[in-house]
Amino acid sequence: MRLTPQFNGERSDHDRTCGYGTPENHCGKPATWHVLWTVDGTNSLDCDEHMADAEKQWVFYGRHRLGPHCLHPEALFYEDRCEVPGGPRQVDLTVREDAPPWLLPEGLSR
Ligand SMILES: [Zn+2]
Ligand SMILES: [Zn+2]
Repeated sequence: MRLTPQFNGERSDHDRTCGYGTPENHCGKPATWHVLWTVDGTNSLDCDEHMADAEKQWVFYGRHRLGPHCLHPEALFYEDRCEVPGGPRQVDLTVREDAPPWLLPEGLSR
């Protein structure tokens, strides 16, 4: 059984549409949700309809309403938004230190 959906590969940073479906035939509606699927940063954008759909089928780590910083390569995924840190930083999606335990990568202690 799959816990997360199949992803369609690379998407442009400026593509703010729902990626649900196949590369040839995806939803394409304006996305409203930013979903973090795995701790290694796999994330996707979904419209209301497909978020509701995905919720029933798959497990995700976090989600929030799509915001201005969501697709920035250096953005950090917070519970309620994405934020771009001031200084230079790794390009990986990271969870903040006070994130709930279910957002922390396995084996990470504090
Ligand atoms: Zn959709
Ligand atoms: Zn986001």
